[in-house]
Amino acid sequence: MRASVLTGPQTIELLERPVPETRPDEVLVRVGSVGVCGSDVHYYAHGRIGSMIVDGPLVLGHEVGGTIGAVGAAVDPRRVGERVALEPQRPCRRCRQCKTGHLNLCPEMEFFATPPIDGAFCDYVTLPEDFAHRVPDSLSDAASGLIEPLSVGIWANRKGGTAAGSRVFITGAGPIGAMVALSARAMGATETIVSDPVESRRQRITELASARTVDPVAGFDADEIEADVFLECSGSTPALLDGLKALRPGGAAVMVGHGDEQVTLPVQDIQVRELTLTGIFRYVDTWPTAISLAASGMVDLDALVTAQFGLDEVEAALNADADPMSMKSVVVVNGV
Ligand SMILES: [Zn+2]
Ligand SMILES: [Zn+2]
Repeated sequence: MRASVLTGPQTIELLERPVPETRPDEVLVRVGSVGVCGSDVHYYAHGRIGSMIVDGPLVLGHEVGGTIGAVGAAVDPRRVGERVALEPQRPCRRCRQCKTGHLNLCPEMEFFATPPIDGAFCDYVTLPEDFAHRVPDSLSDAASGLIEPLSVGIWANRKGGTAAGSRVFITGAGPIGAMVALSARAMGATETIVSDPVESRRQRITELASARTVDPVAGFDADEIEADVFLECSGSTPALLDGLKALRPGGAAVMVGHGDEQVTLPVQDIQVRELTLTGIFRYVDTWPTAISLAASGMVDLDALVTAQFGLDEVEAALNADADPMSMKSVVVVNGV
């Protein structure tokens, strides 16, 4: 099969690789479309994300929609031909985190496109069958792949406690900020306020997610926002501090973007206003919700695709994502 491989710093090569072997409890998926994620761009450009370091050839890509091509011995053969959205993770299922419902925190986790585990910029991937989720034919392969970043948005809002009538403040109007804003609305938020320094991105998020926007450079009165939930999607420390100010007493802040390693926080304010501050790492059990939101039309994932590339153009797709106006680039591996 063809595989687009990160073989060195900022070097992608299209190589021939054997089709992976399907274990008894797995499905073999013919990859249709793969969304480009900020983490793919980061591994390509910098060779690492924090302690996760690329130290050998690596296939990137983890936002995958495709079709089941074959199944392992323990899987119902009627699944062959099923269109699926991939939840790109293999937890151990045996450790304390897995046993208590926190599989995203499993220390033995094998996650697509996280070194040394290969991702999906290739013709075929294998996955435990219960992590290949059936999608209706109304969802395109591209939309099926974008169920993954939508899952991040759903998990962030669940963590923050977004509910009917919530006022949600979001910092960062990039792809993840957009997924978080769309999820907030779908989960009942009646007011979504998004902060971003780039005017064209503010305009776009207003159209996409009916959000009100503020400009953090011009400045805004954070105290007047009084949000129930604050979702930080930029990784910027000033944005994190703005958002804490924008919370009502008792509100919850969730760090979604990759921020600085060390930050000085207003701990007295967090204490006396009883704020909650936490983060998210990937997600647990979000695919059924995300697929329902996309299939029902509550979230239009195809509208987020700003560019399409072929499997021989992965490098161009990764570079396109550096443009601040790029929302989602997708690599069409096997078109229908
Ligand atoms: Zn991603
Ligand atoms: Zn585990």
